[in-house]
Amino acid sequence: MPTTAPSETLGRVVDFFRTYTERVAAVGLAWFGPLDLDPRSATYGLVTTTPKPGWQRADVGGAFRALGVPVAIETDVNAAAVGEQRWGAGRGVEPFVYVTVGTGIGGGAIINGRPLHGLGHPEMGHIVIPRDPSDRFAGACPYHGTCLEGLASGVALRARWGAAPETLPADHEAWRLQARYLALGIVAITAVLVPRRIVLGGGVMRAPGLLERVRTETAAALAGYVPAPELLAPGLGERAGVLGAVALAHRALSERGVQ
Ligand code: ZN
Repeated sequence: MPTTAPSETLGRVVDFFRTYTERVAAVGLAWFGPLDLDPRSATYGLVTTTPKPGWQRADVGGAFRALGVPVAIETDVNAAAVGEQRWGAGRGVEPFVYVTVGTGIGGGAIINGRPLHGLGHPEMGHIVIPRDPSDRFAGACPYHGTCLEGLASGVALRARWGAAPETLPADHEAWRLQARYLALGIVAITAVLVPRRIVLGGGVMRAPGLLERVRTETAAALAGYVPAPELLAPGLGERAGVLGAVALAHRALSERGVQ
């Protein structure tokens, strides 16, 4: 279903599940953020500051609670982290981080069996990293310019090189810079969260040889001071998010009555 106005889109999706009411035991949502994920908040389950027109303050969680079954909501990247840690390349590993490098960059961390929440959810794409001296690109993040997402997202790659990332050849300068920037982001994540393993997903990571280059650059940037986390491709491919949502629904069902 296309994402149009919130009332229309949410109405259609909820109506779809209404037709299966007797078979829906719980709902797990892997939703685009930023979201309010604090159950004590008056705006729990609402979209917060998205640039998507009309979606600010859209009550996603509330729309699904109308189905009368337990509802769990997470950001899409947190849900992907849950999916990879439950069934994919992060199985049984903690702390575990999943980073997606696509149109934007985001990351979710699993600590003590749960996606990390606090003041909000992590915004790993907005880690500030130094711009490479050879790079004159002003950055693509509307908030920070040259944060990690501003320098290394698919949008940033396209704007800097004037071409879609998937059309840039493997020996293009773009990939040296890309591996360096992602490594700097991973160093920051590693220094704070000490993940044993980081899974790197998203469309940009499908570039041939990029993961290996990121491993090399990460080891170089860490300079032997702390061990490098294992860097792996997703075990669930593009299904990490949707399988994470299934895992969230399962947990919501098993915790029913606890909350
Ligand atoms: Zn930013």
